[in-house]
Amino acid sequence: MFNKVLIANRGEIALRILRACKEMGIETVAAHSTADADAMHVRLADQSVCIGPPASRDSYLNMHEIVAACEITGADAIHPGYGFLSENAKFAEILEAHGITFIGPTSEHIKTMGDKIMAKQTAQRLGIPVVPGSDGAVTEDSEARRIAADIGYPVIIKAASGGGGRGMRVVNSEQEMEVALQTTRTEAGAAFGDDAVYIEKYLGKPRHIEVQVMGDGKGMGVHLGERDCSLQRRHQKVLEEANSPALTPEQRDKIGMICANAVGDLGYSGAGTIEFLYEDGEFYFIEMNTRLQVEHPVTEMITRIDLVNEQLRVASGQEMSFSQKDVRFQGHAIECRINAENARTFVPSPGEITYYHPPGGLGVRVDSGVFTGYKIPPYYDSLIGKLIVVGRNRAECLNRLRRSLDEFVVGGIQTTLPLFQDLVRNDDVIAGDYDIHWLENYLAQTG
Ligand code: ADP
Repeated sequence: MFNKVLIANRGEIALRILRACKEMGIETVAAHSTADADAMHVRLADQSVCIGPPASRDSYLNMHEIVAACEITGADAIHPGYGFLSENAKFAEILEAHGITFIGPTSEHIKTMGDKIMAKQTAQRLGIPVVPGSDGAVTEDSEARRIAADIGYPVIIKAASGGGGRGMRVVNSEQEMEVALQTTRTEAGAAFGDDAVYIEKYLGKPRHIEVQVMGDGKGMGVHLGERDCSLQRRHQKVLEEANSPALTPEQRDKIGMICANAVGDLGYSGAGTIEFLYEDGEFYFIEMNTRLQVEHPVTEMITRIDLVNEQLRVASGQEMSFSQKDVRFQGHAIECRINAENARTFVPSPGEITYYHPPGGLGVRVDSGVFTGYKIPPYYDSLIGKLIVVGRNRAECLNRLRRSLDEFVVGGIQTTLPLFQDLVRNDDVIAGDYDIHWLENYLAQTG
């Protein structure tokens, strides 16, 4: 096992990683920007190194400074968390060259899954169901029209290098195709430096369901069930739950084993998430994230497996602490992402938290790094914490979530807590009856 791990991230996930390290007796180094000098994870880490000014490109994305921080402190591994450098193949390669362990998959696997066309082809080869569409990149208008006619309109044009919900355009009819193809290619070239696009069937009312996987890098893959992340705003997840209210145990087992076997065949190492759109009983692969996800705690709450602990084990060459037969799903968990934003306009609300009282009690987990007197810097993502609640079943989980949200007090700034207080009292949410467009429609109607 590692002696010392450098955490190349900030906020709640930096603290989450630090906690796992402490429980395993591993020393920690917090690599932080000047804006995060007072952060909780910096205070709790065994050592801390300032890696630059507030702007992410000069600090949390500054590979040179991060490697230097590793060498100065003698850390043997880096945990990248999510976002920032977590899916940067070049960073993983640089660490490999420096003899520092990147806590994640190989740079090759990051590269493959980072290119959407390659990812889709790999998924298909491994037996994962994909959205019907073009075999690879599409360059000619005539080819695009032929494929679209084949699969039927509407279709969606997607940039091979797109991400974060950008670089996509829905096409409703053949008349729109030529302009849409050209615009998406031009935009993709400008935004991602790669104008390759591909086409797939546009699904009208899917759910977003993703499978948590882990690989040992030696041919063994396991799954830890799925998360339903259909409640989204601008393609950003807002509330996530495990298991999905839409799946039967048989469906769960079937898609789970397909993913576990695929990860094993790939020789994948560490944690990953295989994302699907799900409609009318069918799964359609959209992408694989080769890192820990923001919403990983809902999986942890119903499996009682610490995913960061397992990542550290696998990255250091140890065996995972469990195998597929040990994975049991107990109860139901829901996570709410609490952002420092106005709950209606979603305008960021940085500033000083003058009062902070998180909820507690049975089945309640709050992953956050904030405290009374903490000043939220304006330079980063507005996520300030996650409320995760587990119950023996979905109804108990919702009751517990309702009372937890009512207990949660954050003073001095605006947060998205009021949105969740409304959502947990909504009939569709209570029934688990929603698709990926539900929240946008709800916001438009109640706005
Ligand atoms: P990104 O990498 O930008 O997040 P994804 O491929 O994961 O892109 O897609 C993001 C979102 O776009 C999905 O969650 C879904 O809302 C929508 N989307 C993507 N592909 C399709 C499709 N074929 N049909 C309908 N919606 C889609």
